[in-house]
Amino acid sequence: MPDEKVAVVTGANRGIGFEICRQLAAKGVTVVLTDRTAKPGRAACERLRGEGLDVRFLPLDVTDEGSVRGFAEAVGKELGGADILINNAGLNLDRNLNGLNADVEDIRKTMETNAYGPLRMCQALIPLMKKRGAGRIINVSSRMGSTSHIGGGYPGYRISKATLNALTLILADELQGTKILVNAIHPGWVKTDMGGRSAPRSVEEGADTAVWLALQPDAALTGKFFMDRKVISW
Ligand code: NAP
Repeated sequence: MPDEKVAVVTGANRGIGFEICRQLAAKGVTVVLTDRTAKPGRAACERLRGEGLDVRFLPLDVTDEGSVRGFAEAVGKELGGADILINNAGLNLDRNLNGLNADVEDIRKTMETNAYGPLRMCQALIPLMKKRGAGRIINVSSRMGSTSHIGGGYPGYRISKATLNALTLILADELQGTKILVNAIHPGWVKTDMGGRSAPRSVEEGADTAVWLALQPDAALTGKFFMDRKVISW
């Protein structure tokens, strides 16, 4: 990867995505902090710029094909491309539901953000990475979608993260022989709006493995699932 790297982080106005932006920028990466609504996204960006970090804001709704296409064009024009993509945007709409009473429409919405969103982002940004000769894609997934951990409850969330894991393997395989590496991470149970106040992990801990993977050398692993910088089972 080039010395001066550009990273794109989806869903970054708060939570783990915001902290990933902070940690990447602190390591000298130019970060594009994105969010679907401009006001909180811009405010989050200003906060990090106030800390002296090189962070820019661009609006991006990962469920909207036009938004993703326009975003990729803007990144190409304004920053010359992207080296790192962190697919972090996510939602969880079926907390108290199970497979028998889940609302299929909510599952569809969850898939749009958690699974098809990352697919759209990869399709839009991988051509830019190919032009730069290398890339790192990190999908912020969850063990709730691991075949080794799936149990009852949260059907939409689990299905979406299982799909995201599958997407990670598909793209990693298709990109073998390039310097574009595709991996997924489980951040642990993290104190955020999604994780809630009882979660034991800080956002700093939740962001760490994604940032570490984003800065790995070209010969590093691809097509793997990581937690705490170690490979875990799918
Ligand atoms: P969070 O605080 O709820 O943040 C989620 C972010 O995603 C927000 O910035 C939200 O933006 C954004 N988002 C939602 N839909 C979007 C869309 N269509 N386009 C662009 N951005 C969108 O959640 P978090 O805990 O930081 O979660 C980040 C990631 O970690 C998620 O993928 C989640 O599944 C995963 N994860 C979290 C935990 C945990 O314990 N927290 C555990 C395992 C995995 P708005 O403000 O506009 O809604």
